[in-house]
This record gives sequence, C-alpha cells and structure tokens, in this order.
Amino acid sequence: MDREEKQINEAALEVRKKKQPSKKGNAIELVSHYCKGCGLCVDSCPTGTLLLEDNVSSKFGISVMVDAPEYCIGCKMCERRCPDFAIFINHEMEKEKQ
Ligand code: SF4
Ligand code: SF4
Repeated sequence: MDREEKQINEAALEVRKKKQPSKKGNAIELVSHYCKGCGLCVDSCPTGTLLLEDNVSSKFGISVMVDAPEYCIGCKMCERRCPDFAIFINHEMEKEKQ
C-alpha cells in the first residue's frame, strides 16, 4: 500500500473509533475481481467499516476488505460511490422482498 492508501485506512479507523456497532445486520457483498482498490468506498463510509488491503490475487495489487461488518449501518454510500459496481449492500435480501 502506498502512503495515500494508508492514510485512507487511518482515517477510516479514526471514524470507526467514534462509532458503535450497528444493531441491524447488513450483508456486504464484494465482487472482488471488479475492485481496483481506489478507496472511494472506504473514504465515503460513515462508520469505518471498510479498509483497503494489499491483495496479490488482484491485478491492481490492492482491494477493499470488510474489516468490521458489525459497524455497517446499511446506508449504501459505498455502493453509490463505487465506479466499478464492486460492492453491494443487502442485495440478496432486497431481491427476496421483491
Ligand atoms: S453501507 Fe454504509 S456503513 Fe455499510 S459499508 Fe457501505 S458506506 Fe459503510
Ligand atoms: S469497491 Fe469500488 S469504490 Fe471500493 S475500492 Fe473497490 S473499486 Fe473502489
């Protein structure tokens, strides 16, 4: 990870420190082969749920990881910000409701 990516993670961990785990269970689905590790989702998450990690199996060498799923409040900011359709929130649950 380069310096900027480490800073994105540090900021996310700072955000998480100020939050409590969510009472609602949310399902975070990653489509890892689409993820280029840009960090937009990590940066936009209001609870510090997501982090970047080195990933040798990714062609970009980096990808997002769900580090603290219990903090996810299901706001979908990550899903909206991702330019590559690589992260979805409660997708299966919503499909079942339809
Ligand atoms: S849905 Fe909201 S809280 Fe959950 S990971 Fe995405 S941005 Fe973070
Ligand atoms: S899931 Fe999307 S927004 Fe998040 S790091 Fe991967 S490509 Fe970027």
